[in-house]
Amino acid sequence: MNALRQDRTTGQWAVIAPGRGKRPSDLAASAGAVAPLPPKDPSCPFCPGNENMLPRIIEEAAREAVPGWATRVVPNKYPILQRSESVPADCLEAGYGEHEVVIISPSHYLDIPDLTGADMQALTDTWFRRFAALQALPGIEDVVLFCNRGSTAGASLAHAHSQVIGMPIRSPHIVAALAWSAAYHRDCGRCVICDELAREEASEDRVVELGESFAVLVPFAARGPFEQWIVPRRHSPHFLDAGTQERKDLAGVVQRALQRLVAAVGRVPYNIVVEPGSRHVEEASYAHWAIRIVPEVTIPGGFELQSDIIVNPYSPEDNAESLRQAR
Ligand SMILES: [Zn+2]
Ligand SMILES: [Zn+2]
Repeated sequence: MNALRQDRTTGQWAVIAPGRGKRPSDLAASAGAVAPLPPKDPSCPFCPGNENMLPRIIEEAAREAVPGWATRVVPNKYPILQRSESVPADCLEAGYGEHEVVIISPSHYLDIPDLTGADMQALTDTWFRRFAALQALPGIEDVVLFCNRGSTAGASLAHAHSQVIGMPIRSPHIVAALAWSAAYHRDCGRCVICDELAREEASEDRVVELGESFAVLVPFAARGPFEQWIVPRRHSPHFLDAGTQERKDLAGVVQRALQRLVAAVGRVPYNIVVEPGSRHVEEASYAHWAIRIVPEVTIPGGFELQSDIIVNPYSPEDNAESLRQAR
């Protein structure tokens, strides 16, 4: 039987309708699996040797014991937001901001699940470094860090990369999430995500991995198949509050989550989004950062567009079981 579930940490609704789902192994075929790539592409600006196609290089993380870079950060050639001196008359704010691309690896064909442990660590270290750099710029209110993999997940270039955008306004999504957490904190005196984590860890139904620093869960009201939610187990208001051990552990946790996804359903398109929490001290008691890995394998229809209630054709409990078993 279908179930209407509300995410207790965001207020968002989902209809869990498992009867409508295909077998997990059919998902990659129906969603359009990310095609295998050659080791190098002469027309790809992210491949080494094609630096003349890049606006400039912002920074590179060196590889340990091997020559070359592990990650390279460049300005986005077609930025969503950029530095701008003038505000057009019909705009509330200038499109001011920063938009950087973090190239995940010099190899054209590698994705996050394929990186070595050291290169994966270099990637998450770069995420923390670039997030901090953009957050520190004058006029930046919120930073959005994400990864689009596969054209249906919004990636315009096949060479794996993630993106960091500094915005001159607060993200409406973050503002809404914080308002929900604030209301819960006002009523109960506790952080809604800490409470959800305690409930999920006790029941274990949707727990995929429980480590020292992080829990990986399929959300109770997952808004799509095989969504994974990576949550720091310590109450931690902002992404940049992650401590030394958490920063070390995050690399492995994100990589294992994606490796499980590949083992369970194949190389499907996906998004990774960092939900940064809040750096404002007054919001620290109820903000709690997290990362979501969202496979882009279903297309919203009219019901979803009109109601903002997503129909998930898979049971979160079954998905958690498949991900736990996936090797
Ligand atoms: Zn390339
Ligand atoms: Zn918390």
